[in-house]
Amino acid sequence: MCPPGCLHSICEQASRRGLLKAGFGFGVAAAASAASFAATAVAATPVAAQAAPAVQTRSFTNVLDLTHTLYEGFPTYSGEKWFTMEKPVTWAKDKVNLHRWILMEHTGTHIDSPFHFSEKGNTVDLIPITDLLVPMVVINIAARAADNPDTSVTPDDIKAWESRNGRIPDGACVVMNSGWGKLLSSPKFTGVDPAGKFHTPGFHGETAQFLINERSVKGVGVDTLSLDTGLNSAGAFPFHYAWLGSGRWGVENLANLDTVPEKGALLFVGAPKVKDGTGGPSRIIALV
Ligand SMILES: [Zn+2]
Repeated sequence: MCPPGCLHSICEQASRRGLLKAGFGFGVAAAASAASFAATAVAATPVAAQAAPAVQTRSFTNVLDLTHTLYEGFPTYSGEKWFTMEKPVTWAKDKVNLHRWILMEHTGTHIDSPFHFSEKGNTVDLIPITDLLVPMVVINIAARAADNPDTSVTPDDIKAWESRNGRIPDGACVVMNSGWGKLLSSPKFTGVDPAGKFHTPGFHGETAQFLINERSVKGVGVDTLSLDTGLNSAGAFPFHYAWLGSGRWGVENLANLDTVPEKGALLFVGAPKVKDGTGGPSRIIALV
């Protein structure tokens, strides 16, 4: 059992011991290093069964939390309550605190597994942990999105990033920073209009094809409710079907993206290991 704040204290201890200066190859060594301070329980995972790419040396000075706190009433497109916390065991009654969560898997800051939008893709428990610790690429479209919430990340945005930073690293996660992470408590977060349509930025369908066919990318992330734009999240979901259908994952409702440089961070997705899960609330951390 881990009390509130234990992740932070473990990170501090890890930092003091120099554990953040670890051998990194986006593979076993990296995953083992992250697991050593992110979740001690992961130590029992048989990582040796997974491929071990060449190890590179990386060092970090900051650990950033890209996770919104989940609470009852966290925004959803439908307005339905997707997370409830019941308190059947309380200190006052039992001298123990124990809550029961009732939730839809895709609420709060969370991961979409390939199975979420495919017939036979990996469920969340089957995503290799070597795919969940990856170089992070941040595509900032916030200025454009402020004027047009229906805008999307296009292949041209990826190419513009590459013109400044070089080619997207193999195995990366490409993240959209639309500025929506700061709008959680605003009606703009769902962007619903009087006609019931949603206006939030996302990834363009063509960008899925570009990243699948012309780059080597493991995941994508957004600071909005959906990988697709709000307008495309009312049934068509072109990006979701193409991207998750290709066996890749996505994360939604990311926070604090303004604190992450557009290049050079490493992203760790603390996905839940729930058998047959389609995704779920996740602790998502950037190492900078
Ligand atoms: Zn989702």
